[in-house]
Amino acid sequence: MAQSRADSTRETWLATLDKFRHDPDRPATADMWSPRLDAASRDELNAIQSEKLRAVTPFLYENSPFYRRRFDRLGLVPSDFRGTDDLQKWPVVDKAEMIADAAENPPYGTYTTTTEEMWAKRGWMMFSSSGSTGAPRVFRYTHVDREAGAWANARALHAMGFQEGETVFMMTGYGPHVWAWGVQYALEKMGLPTIPGGGMDAKARANVILRFKPTIVLCTPSYALHLGRLLQSMGHEPAATSVRTLFLAGEPALAVESTRRRIENLWDARIVEFYGCTEASPHVGGYSCPAQTRETSPAATHLMEDIQVWEVVDPDSHRSLPPGQRGLTVCSNLNSESSPQLRFLVGDYATFNTERCACGRTHVRAIGSFAGRADDLINLRGIKMFPVQIEEAVRALPGTGDEFEIVLTTDGGGLDIMTVRCEHSDHASSGRELQRRLEDEIRSRCEVRVAAEILAPGTLPKTEFKAQRVKDRRQKG
Ligand SMILES: [Zn+2]
Repeated sequence: MAQSRADSTRETWLATLDKFRHDPDRPATADMWSPRLDAASRDELNAIQSEKLRAVTPFLYENSPFYRRRFDRLGLVPSDFRGTDDLQKWPVVDKAEMIADAAENPPYGTYTTTTEEMWAKRGWMMFSSSGSTGAPRVFRYTHVDREAGAWANARALHAMGFQEGETVFMMTGYGPHVWAWGVQYALEKMGLPTIPGGGMDAKARANVILRFKPTIVLCTPSYALHLGRLLQSMGHEPAATSVRTLFLAGEPALAVESTRRRIENLWDARIVEFYGCTEASPHVGGYSCPAQTRETSPAATHLMEDIQVWEVVDPDSHRSLPPGQRGLTVCSNLNSESSPQLRFLVGDYATFNTERCACGRTHVRAIGSFAGRADDLINLRGIKMFPVQIEEAVRALPGTGDEFEIVLTTDGGGLDIMTVRCEHSDHASSGRELQRRLEDEIRSRCEVRVAAEILAPGTLPKTEFKAQRVKDRRQKG
């Protein structure tokens, strides 16, 4: 029986993925998992991306109704994409478009290439987008993705200095969030021991650190601060523990200089981070390299270009911008059987640099790392700012605690106002003085007048995953 086009294009796509999965099982050198890929010339990287693109477009057309409709609507055919330059023919795909597809085609949508048959035969895990708005978008990944993801993540972890002798404490609830799972399978490939930390409260985790002495801990930046303070309250200095590396994700870490310094000093440890999204997974997008040390400022984060095409685009026109210009991140994912996306608008502000890094890698770097999604932008009476700008102000000020929240309300006169509620540290000077200094700090950094409210330590809730720092209670309309 003749093979269907859906099957034959899938076969070609999977063969192309295999062709470029160099050094599939173990690192080639102590410095780089796969020098052939990690230090490939920019021309070689572009050639790999282009060959993958030629295989993925027919696969998407034949296996994803969402993509087929889009090709047809745009009057394009898969063979219109011969190389990476042709990506510009394809308008970016945003979250709203995927949410609408999921609403019309519940519960999975049609933006992935996962079929019921595939899920039954080699389904691995379903992950969910962590966005707070709209219907949840889910992504069903296969065991082919598990292996491709473990390989790519192992390359990234190798670059981050994970090596024999480390023990990794995974302080995660192991929910449907791709990050921890993607790391777990990579650590398994690397043969590095882990301590799973799901289902434990902070005190139990602190005791695991004291008793079993892991060298690397994985958590969010907020949680690293919370756990460090808890250790102090138990009579232990985090800096004196076995922990040498803090592997942070879920919220901006390296990009927020004052938060970064606070965490590094508290733990006397190096911070490394992953960057990515559920849509283009289960592998990493960005990762820290050996050139990222405690002295490096601003931080820089590599993006793995043989498995993805990364661009920054103008926030309004969505046109691609040259290196050096600040724009929003867009990812074409070329390392997945289930979710190979074309020009997905990830939407973090970033500035790219394509010069060879001091570590020897040729892949693009985001200078200053990633400071938050455009979706998070706060618009207060026409003044726009990111929550991380407030965070910078709070954490830069001596005497402030680690927890804070931003509350937006509408007063009796119909005016929208912002209040920053922040805990003081145990040794704070008078609350009134701290309140005045915080208001001044935010006014000078964000050019907006806000009210500060100083709270006793322990007042605000602690979060394990992404902290919800903005409470928008404004009257709409
Ligand atoms: Zn580097």
